[in-house]
Amino acid sequence: MNDQAVRTRFAPSPSGQLHVGNLRTALFNWLLARHHRGEFVLRIEDSDAARSDAGRIERLQNDLEWLGLGWDVGPGIGAPADWQQSRRADLHAEAAERLRHRDAAYYCFCSTERLAALRDRQKQAGHPPRYDGCCAGLDPVHAAQRVAAGESAVLRLRMPDEGTIRFTDAVRGEQSFRAADLDDPIIQRADGSAAFLFANALDDALMGITHVLRGEDHLSNTPRQIVLLERLGQSVPVYGHLSLVVDDQGAPLSKRRGAPGVHDLQDEGARPAAIVNYLARLGNPVPADALESLDALAADFDVARLSRRPARFDRRQLDYWQSLAMAAAPVASLRPALQVDCVPDDRITAFIQLVQPNLRAADELNDWAIRLFAPQSVLDAALADRLRPLGAAFFETLIRVLESAPTDDWKPLRAELEGATERRGGALMKPLRRALTGLDHGPALGDIIHLMPADIRRMRLQQAASIAASGADTDA
Ligand code: GLU
Repeated sequence: MNDQAVRTRFAPSPSGQLHVGNLRTALFNWLLARHHRGEFVLRIEDSDAARSDAGRIERLQNDLEWLGLGWDVGPGIGAPADWQQSRRADLHAEAAERLRHRDAAYYCFCSTERLAALRDRQKQAGHPPRYDGCCAGLDPVHAAQRVAAGESAVLRLRMPDEGTIRFTDAVRGEQSFRAADLDDPIIQRADGSAAFLFANALDDALMGITHVLRGEDHLSNTPRQIVLLERLGQSVPVYGHLSLVVDDQGAPLSKRRGAPGVHDLQDEGARPAAIVNYLARLGNPVPADALESLDALAADFDVARLSRRPARFDRRQLDYWQSLAMAAAPVASLRPALQVDCVPDDRITAFIQLVQPNLRAADELNDWAIRLFAPQSVLDAALADRLRPLGAAFFETLIRVLESAPTDDWKPLRAELEGATERRGGALMKPLRRALTGLDHGPALGDIIHLMPADIRRMRLQQAASIAASGADTDA
C-alpha cells in the first residue's frame, strides 16, 4: 500500500455527544491514517438539518481536539464544502441526476401508505421488509414528466437482480451478499435531499477516502454503497466494520442505556491519555501494558488484528488507565486543580508528585491537601472506632518517636517505631496511616510522614490518643 495515499475519515452526525463507542471509531480511523502517515478527515454528516446546529459541531470539534485527534481536513481546515455534508447538496444532486440519466436510478412514486401496507404484509408473512420494485419498470421519460408536472417522487438506486456482491472487509474478512436479497434503496428524498447511504458513500469517494472503519451496524449498507459507487464510476474504499462496543448485558452502548459520553468523562476528571489508551485496547490487542502516546499507538496499529467479537466496555479498565494517566500527568497540569491553600508553597510539587498516582480526578488533590496539611480532623466515626482499642499509650509512643527521630529515611524510622510500639508490619502501619490521613489507603506511609508538617502529625496523633483514651468509658 502506498502510505501517502491512505486517507481515512470519521463521519459523525452531530446529533448528540459522542459516547465511547463513537470515540473508538474516531480513534481507530485516526490511528490508521497516522500509521501510514496519511490523512484524517473529519466530515460532519449534518444533512439531516433538524438535528444539527453550529454549537454541536463546535462541541464535537472540541471533544476530538481534547483527545488529541486532530484532522487534516475538517472544521477550521479547508472550505466548509470540503467537510460539511450539508454544504455539498449540489454535488449530491448532480450525482443523483447522473445515475438517473444512466437509468441506474429511477423515480419511485409509491405513497407512504402503500409502503406501510407492503411492510405489514411482509411482516405477517414472516419476510423481512423490502421494497418490491413496483416503480422499477416505469418508463423513465414518462416518470420524469410526472415529476416535472409537480408529482412527488423519491429516487431509488437500481440494484442488480441477480449475482453476488462481494468485498473483503478489512476487519471481518470476505463478505458476500446475494443481490436478490437487497432491495433498491432510496438515494434522494422527495424534497431533493440526499439520503444517508448515498451522501455518505459519494462523499467518501469524492473526498478520496481510501479506508472506512465504522460500526458493524453499517455492514448491511455496504453492498448497496459499493453498487452505487460502481455505477458512478467511482473507486470503492476499503471498508472495515468494527465490532460493536457493548455493555455488561451485551447490549450495544448507547447514551440512552447509560453509556458515558465524552462530557460525562470530562466532568469526572478523566484524562485524555486514559481514554485514548483504554479505547485503543478495546477489541484491539495492544501488547504494551503501559500508557502510550498516540504516536506510539499509531505506529503499532494494525487493522488485521482488530477483534470481530463485540468489545465489552469495562469501567474498571478505564479507571485503571485513568490511574496510570494521573500518575504520569505533569505536575503543572494538575496544579490548577489545587484550590485549597493549606499546602506550603515549597511543598506543592512534592505533594502533587506524592499523591497523583492515587487520584482518579485532579480535584481530589484538595481532599489530600486537607488530609496532609490542614489543622482539622480527618477521622470519621467508623475509623475512630477502629483506633479506640489500641489505647492512648500507643499513639503517645508514636508522637514521641516522630518528634525525636529524623523522618527522611523510612527504614530506620520504621524500625524505631516498631521497637517502641512492639508492633510490626500492618499492626503498626495500618493504625498509623489511619490516624494520620483518615484513610486506609494512599501513598507510601514513609513519604506521607516525611511530607506532613510535624505539628499536623502531632495534632492527628493526639486526636487519636484522646479518642483511644475515651474508649474505656464508651466501650464499657
Ligand atoms: N454518520 C454516520 C454515523 O454516524 C456515519 C457512518 C459511517 O461511518 O459511514 O453513523
